[in-house]
Amino acid sequence: MKKTAIVTGASRGIGAATAALLARSGWRVALGCFRHPGPARDLCGALAAEGLEAFPFQGDVSSLKEAEGLARAVLDRWGRIDLLVNNAGIAQQKLFTDITEEEWDRMFAVNVKSLYACCRAVVPHMVREHRGSIVNIASIWGEVGASCEVHYSASKAAVIGFTKALAKELGPSGVRVNCVSPGVIATDMNAALPPETMAALREETPLGTIGSPEEVARAVAWLAGEEASFVTGQVLGVNGGFVI
Ligand code: NAP
Repeated sequence: MKKTAIVTGASRGIGAATAALLARSGWRVALGCFRHPGPARDLCGALAAEGLEAFPFQGDVSSLKEAEGLARAVLDRWGRIDLLVNNAGIAQQKLFTDITEEEWDRMFAVNVKSLYACCRAVVPHMVREHRGSIVNIASIWGEVGASCEVHYSASKAAVIGFTKALAKELGPSGVRVNCVSPGVIATDMNAALPPETMAALREETPLGTIGSPEEVARAVAWLAGEEASFVTGQVLGVNGGFVI
């Protein structure tokens, strides 16, 4: 039977590239989306036209109830969940002293509580089946910190801590938990950055380029697959050498 994956934040960027790659590698994929269901629906339509199985699911990943709805929809349709990719996230550039309490809470709700909610929804199933894999998307800024992104950096550092702790807890149950930590990637998340900032980031990257969503997707697919069967609790940097 075909393996089944959930990719959150799959309406665009890294999530869309990951969902498409997994589907084209033989997985059935549920594509999470929130404010932009149209592109997720379109991608599912394009994958269906290739004879692949995918469906969109709209919901706020920071809500346990909505995360449970996503897991239930996948189990009702396909009867199994083999992979959860916690990719949905938000970013914001602001002086630390200008970050409001609401902005701080929203950053942690979407970037960190979502991991609690989505894992809480799928882990009982994976533990029962004694198999499964979770890949969380962190960030270089969670490793080295970014000026004017204290809440984002702190939330991504939390993703790394979450990954390591859950990997230890779920290893004995046959479930692997890893994260990919991307560098600067060409997506909507960086679209508002001034060109000179992007140029400076490119220059700071030893490989001298901005990464593509597909380059991150390939790392996620590797961690999710059998080739990584003895890999858990790891932070895989896909950053052109930005963090060494
Ligand atoms: P993006 O293009 O801005 O896409 C973000 C995705 O997250 C969208 O699909 C969005 O769905 C979804 N999302 C946002 N809030 C959500 C919520 N409350 N509930 C459910 N889905 C929600 O971002 P990206 O650049 O692909 O980033 C993907 C992940 O990689 C994020 O965790 C990000 O922090 C991380 N990352 C990105 C970079 C980079 O340079 N781009 C670097 C390091 C790490 P809708 O559009 O439907 O609302």
